[in-house]
Amino acid sequence: MRARDVAKQIVVCCRRLWEAGLIAGADGNVSVRLGEDRLLVTPRGVLKAELGPADLVEVSLGGKRRKGLREATTELDLHLRAYRVRPDCGAVVHAHPPVATAFAVAGEPIPGDVLPEVILLMGEVPVVPYATTGTPALGDAAEPFLTRHPAVLLANHGAVTCGADLAAARIRMESLEHAARILLAARTLGRMTRLTPEQIQALRRPSY
Ligand SMILES: [Zn+2]
Repeated sequence: MRARDVAKQIVVCCRRLWEAGLIAGADGNVSVRLGEDRLLVTPRGVLKAELGPADLVEVSLGGKRRKGLREATTELDLHLRAYRVRPDCGAVVHAHPPVATAFAVAGEPIPGDVLPEVILLMGEVPVVPYATTGTPALGDAAEPFLTRHPAVLLANHGAVTCGADLAAARIRMESLEHAARILLAARTLGRMTRLTPEQIQALRRPSY
């Protein structure tokens, strides 16, 4: 796909994230792999609801700007780590989904044995220990988790999801927040029933 079409997809994705309440103001950032050594990423400091295709920045996997008038997001390093450790990763979404981020503030992972959509889409969503945003320390903390999980929570910060393409990464982010809301509601009811290993196994079998 051409960079111009990818740029339009990213703009639509940011708009949807904002409309769904998963980001606010200049929060969040999105990237898509364009080739082996280049990706298109959202710029720093721009309101995502007002983003246009011309605002996007093309960078190399080493983090060097190749095209674009703006500076890449301050959280670029998080994206680069995901692409480096996951050859299957074609897109990365970073957002601040309110309820999922509340789990991250509480230091609680989203369990991988309660809701079928979580089991099938991402498995357990662990919490990456806190590190200052925009510094290599956050990338260092996240990298080992991103290697093993397509979705992670960042302590006291937000969430990161990866996908084969942008739609897959965005759907993971939406499902993560939806699951967090359900789990929070279940907890207020006082009981969380976990699925058995057999029930989880049955979910993974192809359906009729
Ligand atoms: Zn953030």
